[in-house]
Amino acid sequence: KDIQVAIDGPASAGKSTVAKRVAKRFKYIYCDTGAMYRAIAWLALDHHLAMDDTAAISQLAQQAEIEFKPGEEEQRVFVNGTEVTKAIRGNAVSKNVSAVAAIPAVRTEMTRQQRAIADKGGIVMDGRDIGTTVLPHAQVKIFLVASAHERARRRYEENKEKGIHTGTLAELQAAIELRDQKDSTRKVSPLVQAADAIKLDSTHLTIDQVVDQISAIITK
Ligand code: C5P
Repeated sequence: KDIQVAIDGPASAGKSTVAKRVAKRFKYIYCDTGAMYRAIAWLALDHHLAMDDTAAISQLAQQAEIEFKPGEEEQRVFVNGTEVTKAIRGNAVSKNVSAVAAIPAVRTEMTRQQRAIADKGGIVMDGRDIGTTVLPHAQVKIFLVASAHERARRRYEENKEKGIHTGTLAELQAAIELRDQKDSTRKVSPLVQAADAIKLDSTHLTIDQVVDQISAIITK
């Protein structure tokens, strides 16, 4: 049976960096579910929809074709044929994505698309509700956390490197904490550790150390 690895946790805990490397090591598919919710938020903004127009946003999600294509160092993300790789990391999307992700019909559709991707083979999927909802039978479930300050610091450095402008470190930390709070308190599939997930705190660990620990869990 194909191995499923679910990596969940709060914003900027290093999930995607770690998930990508684990996928590469085991030659599994990597699926960034956050990018999918971000793509829908981008679509909603592009259509000038109000974030509380749940009917219109649900319809957009149901008709959205999200594609991942291999890129130089990161996967490229396309929605309905438009490349949004960089746009989905900007402030506007980051600020609005939690509202979009709280819409039940959006989650139903994204979950459907995510399971279809997982049906293709061994997979490492990262997000907020993978171990609890999307892949409840995943053989390996990791809940990756780090202190809010450390998460903000890492994301700040990463954004600086990529030339993405997200304000000061303090502003970034406040935005991350607000997003976590929204994600943890929504009604459908909130951000919560699955009962059978292993918690990993990466605050004082390097990326390699986290990748090694998860790899050891997979091969156990
Ligand atoms: O992982 P990332 O920070 O890119 O996710 C962006 C947002 O997408 C999260 O803050 C959350 O609102 C939503 N999300 C979700 N469920 C997932 C993945 C992401 O609700 N599985």
